Amino acid sequence: MGDRVFNFSPGPATLPLEVLEKAGKDVVDFQDTGIGLIEMSHRSKEFMTVAADAEANLRELMNIPQNYKVLFLQGGASSQFFMIPMNLLGDKKKATYLDTGTWSNKAIKEARIFGDIDVAFSSEDSSFNRVPEDGEYTVSEDSEYLYYVSNNTIYGTQFPTAPSTSKMLVCDMSSDILSRPVDVSRYGIIFAGAQKNLGPAGVTIVIIREDLLDTTPENVPTMLRYKTHADKDSMFNTPPCFSIYVMGEVLKWLKRQGGVEAIEKHNKEKAAMLYEAIDQSDYYRGHAETASRSIMNISFNLPTPELEVKFIAEAAAIGLNGLKGHRSIGGCRASIYNAFPRNGIEKLVAFMRVFETNNP
Ligand code: PMP
Repeated sequence: MGDRVFNFSPGPATLPLEVLEKAGKDVVDFQDTGIGLIEMSHRSKEFMTVAADAEANLRELMNIPQNYKVLFLQGGASSQFFMIPMNLLGDKKKATYLDTGTWSNKAIKEARIFGDIDVAFSSEDSSFNRVPEDGEYTVSEDSEYLYYVSNNTIYGTQFPTAPSTSKMLVCDMSSDILSRPVDVSRYGIIFAGAQKNLGPAGVTIVIIREDLLDTTPENVPTMLRYKTHADKDSMFNTPPCFSIYVMGEVLKWLKRQGGVEAIEKHNKEKAAMLYEAIDQSDYYRGHAETASRSIMNISFNLPTPELEVKFIAEAAAIGLNGLKGHRSIGGCRASIYNAFPRNGIEKLVAFMRVFETNNP
């Protein structure tokens, strides 16, 4: 096997090497059964234990209250853009959304199919370089929920804390779940695609307050009702077994790192190293406003697009991969989720200094 590169990909993203190595073995022979993990019935004793342990560890790490269900669904985080309003806004009820970029935009578009949607804030005018402060927008009194995206993967912005409102919160935490502590009891629904902080693509986590399971209108198809999956412990149909298994191993790994508080400290230190390199030079410019900076995705520019192309190519040549920014805003982006190692950031910072000197 060749040397592993430092992979700054925004998702699917770097996973802990020890998890990948264990998965490699378990795919061939799971727990000496002579059957590979992905060949096994999802109703086997072995797989049922894998799924139950994954849920128990997620509950423990996030401190999820008893009156919440944890669901392992498919269809990507994008399916939650319609499942949420479809289940919660029967009869054209109202909801308030905060528009902080592509992923909230897509959610707003879907929600409008089902409900009366009020967009209370948008940072579109400034290329989504910030999230709102509390008090900068009003949540309508008759809204069922306030929807926001806690971390905006493309622009590198992140809500420093949950919005302050008396309304129930609904949140897309796809790109920062488990990166810092969250008070789950403030939310009606939290969801996240797995392919950044949790594991491979293919499973979407939905954490839903139990009373919301009974709000779904009659005409919603069986597979798209949260209650269907809650009643059957996410085994109404065949679940994405491999993704759930790897996620379970990532959760065990996170516990070994000391849990969410410990990883938050680590994440903040990693991000600070990179922001310091950006702030200390006039050559690199961060996309996000300082108060909105993400500790997961750091989007930045060089003086010209030509230099950015050169920077990304030269970085890749020395094993710093995946630094190209999202096609919608260009530039560069370093995605540094929980499992991204600190020495990868040290190497990037050193390279940034050399590149600046060599390409004035
Ligand atoms: N929300 C956020 C914040 C994301 O970053 C992404 C994907 N990058 C999505 C939703 C969409 O996820 P999926 O591809 O699983 O539908």
